Amino acid sequence: MARSSTRRLALAGASLLVAAGCTTAAVTPALVTPASTAPLTTSTSPAPASTATSSSTSTVPSAVTPSTSTPAPLPSKSARPPRADPFDSANALDGIRELAAIGPRDAASPAYARAADWVGGQLRAAGYDVREQAFDLPAGVSWGVRVAAGRPVNVIADPPGFDPSRPHVVIGAHLDTVPQSPGAEDNASGVATMIELARMVRQQPTALPVRFIAFGAEEARGGNGTRYAFGSRHFVTSVGGSDRRAVRGMVSLDRVGVRAATVPVCTGGRGTTSLAIAIRGAARAAGVATNGCTNRGSDHVSFEAAGIPAVRIGSVPYAGYHSARDVPSVIDPRQLERTGAALWAWLRSLG
Ligand SMILES: [Zn+2]
Repeated sequence: MARSSTRRLALAGASLLVAAGCTTAAVTPALVTPASTAPLTTSTSPAPASTATSSSTSTVPSAVTPSTSTPAPLPSKSARPPRADPFDSANALDGIRELAAIGPRDAASPAYARAADWVGGQLRAAGYDVREQAFDLPAGVSWGVRVAAGRPVNVIADPPGFDPSRPHVVIGAHLDTVPQSPGAEDNASGVATMIELARMVRQQPTALPVRFIAFGAEEARGGNGTRYAFGSRHFVTSVGGSDRRAVRGMVSLDRVGVRAATVPVCTGGRGTTSLAIAIRGAARAAGVATNGCTNRGSDHVSFEAAGIPAVRIGSVPYAGYHSARDVPSVIDPRQLERTGAALWAWLRSLG
């Protein structure tokens, strides 16, 4: 209890720094345009070379290290600054431990079904309407291990009264793992961060609604690693024309917790860079350093292929990748907090 309240106080201090670092003017673009204009569904020019290079701003820690115990004055309503960042890495760490304790969770395994139940329960408890979307998954080979066919689910959480034909954004994270890994970083870190963001959004709703999705079967099942992202692909195909145009952006949280100086914001390299630019701008204004990158190894590719602005957050290399050593001790809570602060700043900038 003591640990928890200390942490909350510390984060409250950090939050104020984050809020003080944000201005509406500094937080741009594309996704801030009014809902009725230009649906950002046209795949425009491919990502320029600059997105493939790292370009960091100053290193962060103001977003994660409280440097003052003096509360800052409350922002005036007329200025409409982003709200304070209430991301609690202790909650996210608890979630990572829960999922890793379930063990390896190939999408066709009973362990995956247990993990999906757990995630659904968390999102329901946070106040969302939750449903499971089942899809057929072929047998294959995952990271060198034969895996069975199955019928796993995506877990989809919508805020009450959600209308999928109205503009919204999607934040997703894959819930499955390769068969030999308990997947603390890959990708309990992304799922637990997503759940924490979902709690935050319910408490302080965003101008654009957010649909949260835990995807099944992101990990490759053969074809030399080319057959992957089954759950997200199924979801995108299941969404019809006008509902698809209503998806103004998609964020895949995938491996967001190992220690790094910056938060990777990667596009798939075959669509618009508008979302990556918006997130990096919002993060910079909140004092969180990011690096740009191109990466096709996550569920954002399914959305990008459909012409939806999409990014992957995360992908820092680490020793325990796809092994039994991917356990909660690989996680650095400060990286979770950087990720949470960057996404929160972007979410506050929408609409
Ligand atoms: Zn992953």
